[in-house]
Amino acid sequence: MDDWQRILQGSLRKPEEIAQKFGLDKEEVKRIARAFKTQITPYYAGLIKERGDAIWKQIVPDPAELREHTGDADPLLEDEDSPVPGIVHRYPDRLLFLVSHSCASYCRFCTRKRKVGDPSKIHPRYIEQGIEYIRNHPEVRDVIISGGDPLMLSDRKLEAILKAVRAIPHVEILRIGTRTPCFLPQRITEKLVAMLRKYHPLYVNVHFNHPDEITPEAARALGLLADAGIPLGNQTVLLKGVNDDPQVMRRLMQKLLTVRVRPYYIYQADYVAGTEHLRTTVEKGLEIMDGLRGWTSGMAVPYYCIDAPGGGGKIPVLPKYLQSINDEQVVLRNYAGELFVYPQVRQKPKRKPRPAIAPCYNCDAPV
Ligand SMILES: *Cc1c(COP(=O)(O)O)cnc(C)c1O
Ligand code: SF4
Repeated sequence: MDDWQRILQGSLRKPEEIAQKFGLDKEEVKRIARAFKTQITPYYAGLIKERGDAIWKQIVPDPAELREHTGDADPLLEDEDSPVPGIVHRYPDRLLFLVSHSCASYCRFCTRKRKVGDPSKIHPRYIEQGIEYIRNHPEVRDVIISGGDPLMLSDRKLEAILKAVRAIPHVEILRIGTRTPCFLPQRITEKLVAMLRKYHPLYVNVHFNHPDEITPEAARALGLLADAGIPLGNQTVLLKGVNDDPQVMRRLMQKLLTVRVRPYYIYQADYVAGTEHLRTTVEKGLEIMDGLRGWTSGMAVPYYCIDAPGGGGKIPVLPKYLQSINDEQVVLRNYAGELFVYPQVRQKPKRKPRPAIAPCYNCDAPV
């Protein structure tokens, strides 16, 4: 057993343990855990500074999860775009390949909580079928390996998947989505990165939601990946009481750049059942984007997207920089709220307006 597997085994997972550690009602935690798995790595639990803080809110089960009656089990209708179990094929040239049901810790806001943590929903026996699907679809040039968390698999199992997908000639790039650098940075080892780098071009997207998550341990893990030539992107979920604050979000984006991670997306929290207490308004998201662009490095500014309920995919949302546009000019608003005019290129020479001729009021003839 590897070190990280031993650390993972020491995670808080029994409802009794979690209830005791966080001062919650045991029966309530049991009920919550039946709806969505509870697990917290000792490392991540150690980042909690006080009850109800940004780290706590992400992984400590909350009785609100059961009280709320809004949201859907599958708001993005992923299951309708799933031709075989384990594949979500929504876009023309790329797809999601779900290879692991488990995660190092379970985010209470998880969009895929209907499947994640449940081995019957994301099962190893689906993997061969998924590979076969990709093989039979020559339009797929980008495979996003996800789950759950693919880095919960052993190096050997993960390598078997990477090798099989890499061998498909029309697959140009591979991506892995993982939250382990945040939840379990010990998972990123020399041995792992030596394996991953054999499957370039390989991109890794990580998931950090708060500047306190960028610890020396996380920096080491991300450094190993970056040193292996793996471009790193970050996906953040906008969450109430976690990062719904322009200054917190700006600091997170800046800190990500210091550990060689390029912010990629900020997502509006999906309309998932049992997550109402963690959602915030789209106006808040726009305010956060307004607090990034221009005020800090452009490299620190990701796209802000709403993954459309009903399966429309990710739709970018921008503050209103374009105030008006016509044939003559474009009026723009800069980051500080000042207006500027950009003259349009003249498309066609303007026709001279015909002189207006007033008709005779008696016989209608032009005079
Ligand atoms: C997010 C997502 C992708 C990847 O989208 P990019 O914008 O290319 O990062 C692909 N398929 C599905 C179903 C997704 O949800
Ligand atoms: S790491 Fe990702 S898949 Fe796992 S619980 Fe969190 S959001 Fe869901």
